[in-house]
Amino acid sequence: MPVLFKLLKLVAPNWKAMALATFFSFLTIASNIGLLAVSALLIARAALHPPILYLMPLIVGVRFFGISRAVFRYLERYISHKTTFGILKEIRVWFYSCLEPLAPAALSGYRRGELLSNLVNNVETLKHFYLRVLAPPATALVILMVTSAFLARFEIKLALTFFFFYVLAGIGTPILIKILISGVGQQLVKVTTALNAHLVDCIQGMTELTVFGHKERYEQETRKLGKKLVGLQGHEAGLTGLANTLTGLLANLTLWTLLVLAIPLVEKGELEGIYLAMLVLAAYSGFEAIYPLPLITKNLEESLAAGKNLIQITAIQPQVQENLAYPTCQLQEASLRIEGLSFRYDENEPWVLQNINLELLPGERLAIIGPSGAGKSTLINLLLRFWEYEKGKIYLGGYDLKSLPPELVRSYFSVVSQQTHLFNATVKENLLLAKPTATPEEIIAACQKAHLHDFIETLPRGYETYIGEKGLKLSGGQRQRLAIARALLKDAPFLILDEATNGLDAVTERELWQELAKITGGKTTLIITHRLTGLEKVDKILRLNEKGQIKENGPLSY
Ligand code: ADP
Repeated sequence: MPVLFKLLKLVAPNWKAMALATFFSFLTIASNIGLLAVSALLIARAALHPPILYLMPLIVGVRFFGISRAVFRYLERYISHKTTFGILKEIRVWFYSCLEPLAPAALSGYRRGELLSNLVNNVETLKHFYLRVLAPPATALVILMVTSAFLARFEIKLALTFFFFYVLAGIGTPILIKILISGVGQQLVKVTTALNAHLVDCIQGMTELTVFGHKERYEQETRKLGKKLVGLQGHEAGLTGLANTLTGLLANLTLWTLLVLAIPLVEKGELEGIYLAMLVLAAYSGFEAIYPLPLITKNLEESLAAGKNLIQITAIQPQVQENLAYPTCQLQEASLRIEGLSFRYDENEPWVLQNINLELLPGERLAIIGPSGAGKSTLINLLLRFWEYEKGKIYLGGYDLKSLPPELVRSYFSVVSQQTHLFNATVKENLLLAKPTATPEEIIAACQKAHLHDFIETLPRGYETYIGEKGLKLSGGQRQRLAIARALLKDAPFLILDEATNGLDAVTERELWQELAKITGGKTTLIITHRLTGLEKVDKILRLNEKGQIKENGPLSY
């Protein structure tokens, strides 16, 4: 139920447009009823050979309903789809904006494919919520009332008969289909999400799967999930067919029953003969509004399952809670002080960092070294406010880190991480991500410092060259240098180089370390490394052991 309320709340602001679309949907079906009814009346009247003038209003009526039906259908489709896609756009933006603060900490338990599926498929599924769940019953109800009232003007018995069959088709068929289709909507969402997550895994790990010979196994899994999906879709299609058949059957049954009831009335002179076909066909065409109803429960189930998935993720609390009442402060100096910092990822997990103490003055360069798993990257994640810490204090320029908005904290850091993401865009666009207002001179200066400019110059399109998905058209070293150039362009007071020279050839690495002072340009710098190359260029060193404890801390004693 909370999911249903949430979905209703999401569509509520557009209620006027939806009401208008529902109104046009009613007018479309009403025109259809009018068209059949007036045509029947025209034929019946014409059979009696009256003067043509008597037939004129009916001829105009047929033309009017024939045209209005198409116009109203167009307006209904246009407004309902425009509104629905507008709502989907809002939901997509809302979901993404909820997702962003959760990364990376609170999303670590989710597969990328699962998130992608939520963002694309599950949001898309919600279009059924309005188009196939909310609107059809409203239209069907109005058609029921109007057609019953119309029939009642001629004979109440006919109106009651129509009412009975219409309600039976409108409520009975959906109940029957619900029993037969139970759970299919939920399963469809589940299997589609699983298939998408699996396919994204396959695509991302294609090279590894081929190299390690697991292609077959993954293909089998894809086939298995695909088969399940086809099975569910087949079941759904079969039941859609059954629902349509049943509705058609009931519409025809209504037609015949009305004829059986009305013919004696004509014989007795209680109903004029020329109205017979008109009444029966009007009732028959009113069933058009019933056809979408049987699948409502399936569509509702599917919308609720998709909505539940989305809401579950958006309800996750970010690791670092934003405090709306942050005092305004401006960092005066790029100093860093850490006092008694201990951290573990979860209460049940071992401590990753234990009692870390550290002081860095503005412009100083610190090397953090230690074996793999010692907690070096974790320390950086804490500095960047990706994870919340409880024990100890971190001060940035004298301010307690927790008293600064996370966004502001991140703006103070330029980071070259081990897995810097490069976008499928040009070299220049990737660089501008760090500073959208950068001038060409600034871009070139950053690339020169990162020893990348000469290489870019050799490319046929220079800075406008597309670097491919994740920068795959570049070598590992070139990607790393691009990441370094991007970090330098940001020009933040703190610079973090997390294994930044990984993937670089020995000569470039040595050159970069030689020029460390030029590169860091007075920025307070934290360098994470497991190699000792270049350490002579740093001012301080923090050596961690595998338990995340300080083994050595202080000025370099080389
Ligand atoms: P380093 O950068 O020194 O190689 P990390 O900071 O990446 O080490 O990891 C330190 C420890 O924290 C490792 O034992 C690792 O398994 C654990 N760890 C890292 N990230 C997470 C996470 N998101 N959830 C739980 N444990 C983690």
